[in-house]
Amino acid sequence: MRKTLLALMTAALSAAAEPTTIPPTYVCQRTTSPLHIDGKGTETDWQSAVRLSPLRDIEGAAIEDNTVIRLLWDDSYLYVLADMKETHLWATLQERDSIIYHDPDFEVFIDPEGDARNYVEIEVNALNTVWELFLTAPYRSSGHALHDWNIPGLKSAVQLRGTLNKSGDTDEGWSVEMAIPWESITGHSAHPRRCAPPTAGTVLRMNFSRVNWQVQPDNSSTCGYRKQTDANGTPLPESNHVWAPTGVINIHCPEHWGYVKLSANPAGSGYEGMEQPATTVAQQRLFAWYRAQLDYRAKHGSYSTDIQHPGVNVLFCNQQLFAAQTTATDGQLLSIDSQGVLTTTPAIPKHLPLYLWVQGGKHTGDTTWWQQHFTRLAGAGVHAVIIGGTVEQITHLTPIARAEGLQVYAWMWALNRPQDTTALQHPDWYAVNRCGKSCHAPANRPFVEYYQFLCPNSEGALKHLLNQVDKLAAIPGLSGIQLDYLRMPDVILPRGLWGKYGLDMSRELPEYDYCYCERCQAEFRTTTGRDIATDAEQDTAWREFRLESVARVANALCRRIRSHNLRSACAVFPTPKLAAKLVRQNWADFELDLALPMVYHSFYNKTTAWAATCSQEAAEQTAQRLPLAPGIHLPDSTAASLQAELDNISKTAPAGIGLFCDDDLTPDLLQALQQWCKKDN
Ligand SMILES: [Zn+2]
Repeated sequence: MRKTLLALMTAALSAAAEPTTIPPTYVCQRTTSPLHIDGKGTETDWQSAVRLSPLRDIEGAAIEDNTVIRLLWDDSYLYVLADMKETHLWATLQERDSIIYHDPDFEVFIDPEGDARNYVEIEVNALNTVWELFLTAPYRSSGHALHDWNIPGLKSAVQLRGTLNKSGDTDEGWSVEMAIPWESITGHSAHPRRCAPPTAGTVLRMNFSRVNWQVQPDNSSTCGYRKQTDANGTPLPESNHVWAPTGVINIHCPEHWGYVKLSANPAGSGYEGMEQPATTVAQQRLFAWYRAQLDYRAKHGSYSTDIQHPGVNVLFCNQQLFAAQTTATDGQLLSIDSQGVLTTTPAIPKHLPLYLWVQGGKHTGDTTWWQQHFTRLAGAGVHAVIIGGTVEQITHLTPIARAEGLQVYAWMWALNRPQDTTALQHPDWYAVNRCGKSCHAPANRPFVEYYQFLCPNSEGALKHLLNQVDKLAAIPGLSGIQLDYLRMPDVILPRGLWGKYGLDMSRELPEYDYCYCERCQAEFRTTTGRDIATDAEQDTAWREFRLESVARVANALCRRIRSHNLRSACAVFPTPKLAAKLVRQNWADFELDLALPMVYHSFYNKTTAWAATCSQEAAEQTAQRLPLAPGIHLPDSTAASLQAELDNISKTAPAGIGLFCDDDLTPDLLQALQQWCKKDN
């Protein structure tokens, strides 16, 4: 009994109970020609702008995807376009700076410095009535909301698809278009900011919200509706659908908002990934502790010296004041005080984020072993672990790794699905080679028993893979999902492996050339109006068709991963061109948040210098759009060579470095890694 009570008390004082949500990210591209702010978004730039990930309920639950938001920018404005489905269009407020969320509305939040203070809020209803506010800090931190603050030069327009304030019919929806002058975001006479005018690379914290009310038709009302009420006549609470969930029914938690990075590339340059800032997890940890203190004060009238949170170092705390700090994975020091002021001190030294593959199938259930393992890895400078294993194993290991300050990516088999008992019940899901043989039958599998590749054009197979994403995404605490084998079998093996299989693969051999299933052949016929050429290897349209088929699967999986507010990562062959040639994987077309090119020189009979050359070429072939973390195959490294290899890849300015894998990280290599991380790279 006593033990239970004590456990309950400890839980009440721990700030760790709240699950961490990983904020979504978005890369905003530049307009190429002037936009006419009419609420329509018909310009080519809007049509080609990438959409943000779907809205979710403010507490985090997935909802129907009925809002498409896009952003653009130029030197004068930040542009927002939101297209919203809505069966009942209504609005009542016509006076500027009314409390617009009393109507259904669309809201924009901008925290340009990402310090959870001094931020802008704009609300607009279907009558295009606008309310702008400037908040010196969130309400919880005694912030002031300046209602009389206006944005000079703000342009907005709405477009209705239906009839406003008419309850007898069903409407389709409405859209909002805004041009927000940068001058109002980055500086204001009453509240001078430190932040510089925006340039490519600038990162803002942002959120978007839709407030929805439950209504019923009421012809006596001017808007044709009235809000549904409870027994006391109080309107039922509104629902809030947001881009970045805050986990509670309160949008004013800017530490949870998404990241928007401005890109130098013009609209239509395609999807660009943004790496999650290295401070994300640390910031959330610090704010979780901060919010626990505010909650405690709300109940008891003072702060508590008893509130603990793993990784948070309390510098001082009394009943009225406190300060605490924590260290981000890149070594930056984050501090917060009782005023809610967040400060970030750059780390010295600083090194590239290291992503290490971890085999999660060993030491099952042995929490102590894993704690020690992750402590060792974090201590050596590893930033994120990519854990392979069952959903149960990854679920067990994620909180252990997170407690050591490591980010966690779940590893997933994509188009190759060894021993997938569900897939094996569907022979038609599998890829077929030029000889007509399917990967489904054990006797027909190319090279190795575990090559059980699915057809990239099978709808059933794709649905199955999306389900696998959903299952992994449900694991609490993940930063992302890392896809592997997002390709076809090797139609040409890396040169270093020809001898192993006794093959000369200087030409494409029919036994290793997939997918010639009836479905793929029929779709190719529909697309091109002809059959595959007799010399299939020379048929460029057929090659392109298969590259696009694989990219389509990749992008469906990436979008699904991002719809869970997780990062999409993928292990890819060394460069997009080489990957297209060897395994039909033109990953320059993949909408990834992180690509991990496997520049494993020994597979290709090359030297370590080749790995750096490939990393450089990969950056060029993707027009620097995708964050890259080229990988090192640890069995090929020695304690003497590892630091030079890390240095060589670092020179190509990647977003990080991959390391394969933890089982090959000998004590000597671990020590070499630690020394390299301590150098000021
Ligand atoms: Zn096929």
